[in-house]
Amino acid sequence: VRRLHRHSLVVVGAGPAGAAAALHFRRCRPDASVLLLEKAAFPRDKVCGDAISPDGVGELERLGARSVVDGYPPIARMRVRSPGGVEAAGVAPEPGYVVPRQVLDARLADLAVAAGAELRRVKVRTVEQDGHAVRIDERFEAPALVGADGANSVVRRQLGVRPNPAGHVGIALRGYAPRNGQDPELYLRWVAAGGPAYAWAFPVDDRVRNVGFGLLTSTTVTRDLLEQEVHRNLGPVAPDAATLRAHHLPMSSGRPCPYHGRVLLAGDAAALVNPLTGEGIFYALLSGRLAAQAVLDAPHDPGPYYTALLHDALGRHFRHTGLLARMAAWPWTIDSVVTAARDPAVLQTVGELAFGKGVLTPRVVAHITAGWLRHRWGLSAR
Ligand SMILES: Cc1cc2nc3c(=O)[nH]c(=O)nc-3n(C[C@H](O)[C@H](O)[C@H](O)COP(=O)(O)OP(=O)(O)OC[C@H]3O[C@@H](n4cnc5c(N)ncnc54)[C@H](O)[C@@H]3O)c2cc1C
Repeated sequence: VRRLHRHSLVVVGAGPAGAAAALHFRRCRPDASVLLLEKAAFPRDKVCGDAISPDGVGELERLGARSVVDGYPPIARMRVRSPGGVEAAGVAPEPGYVVPRQVLDARLADLAVAAGAELRRVKVRTVEQDGHAVRIDERFEAPALVGADGANSVVRRQLGVRPNPAGHVGIALRGYAPRNGQDPELYLRWVAAGGPAYAWAFPVDDRVRNVGFGLLTSTTVTRDLLEQEVHRNLGPVAPDAATLRAHHLPMSSGRPCPYHGRVLLAGDAAALVNPLTGEGIFYALLSGRLAAQAVLDAPHDPGPYYTALLHDALGRHFRHTGLLARMAAWPWTIDSVVTAARDPAVLQTVGELAFGKGVLTPRVVAHITAGWLRHRWGLSAR
């Protein structure tokens, strides 16, 4: 009979959500035994645009982990182009960063370990629970578990929680390409593809940029087509073929209940990805921290408390981005939003909606309504 190892908290997956959960729990309870189970050996690649939004940086700061962006230049400028060719550009009050996930995730996991979490290389297969404890692979046991094992979460499947419904899962292809003199700005070029879709070019450092193309509410596309879209929208970017990889994005517009008994889901496992942009690092960091906080504050029944914390932090944001993602099936919506975003104050609101915890403001709604009227009467959005 295998020995059962008991812990205060077990976290499955050491990406941003899992590392944040383990780090926060240990910081608040230095005597706790926190086990972080991860199937990959760090440093490992993760398919991503690598952009950390200003809200994401704020969350890193809150976790005492801001050092993970050290050595990468701050980027405050953003340029956006709509399907109809309208452009908006501006400088955000706070910068973001583009840190390859191979670096970011290893640094975050290191911080969790430095804070006293135990990181073990284990590919989790089974999760069982009764009213008192959760058992993982019949080897580890804890009063609570945080499932932070990403878009194809085994924990989520083990709970019997269905995958996101069609229309609430996206797919995106990423590659690393030479920087080729790209300005120090995040560039997003939206296209009309039956829903929000865009190509991006994000500078990592002086030499390299992260490029890609994502369909945000559909997966009915081949890899070749995604690759063609990168070139069609960004020009001759020449990404290194070995780095071109695609992955699914479970959007928050189709998210499940974030807990089941004593198991809390965080990050992509809880489908906490922005349906307008596919951004997920900020939500992963935030939800990981809140999941840990819920286990600390309500150890006997953390699920409802976690749900309430998530709702307080992101409830309105989820509603507004879900609504906008549905409206974005009509390209004029994005044309209207980008037209509005030529006003720097609106650009800031739009940036927060797209990459952080922002909500719709009357001004943005007025611009979308005006855009709809222009579209209705056949006028150009320019
Ligand atoms: C192409 C693309 C571009 C993107 N661009 C951006 C961007 O620019 N900015 C942004 O903020 N977000 C972006 N995202 C979204 C972002 O990558 C995710 O939202 C984020 O990684 C979620 O973090 P996580 O910790 O929940 O999951 P992950 O980062 O996926 O981490 C999950 C971890 O769990 C481990 N794991 C999985 N299964 C098991 C198992 N059975 N046992 C043990 N360990 C396991 C994995 O190895 C992994 O380390 C992008 C996504 C894609 C696909």
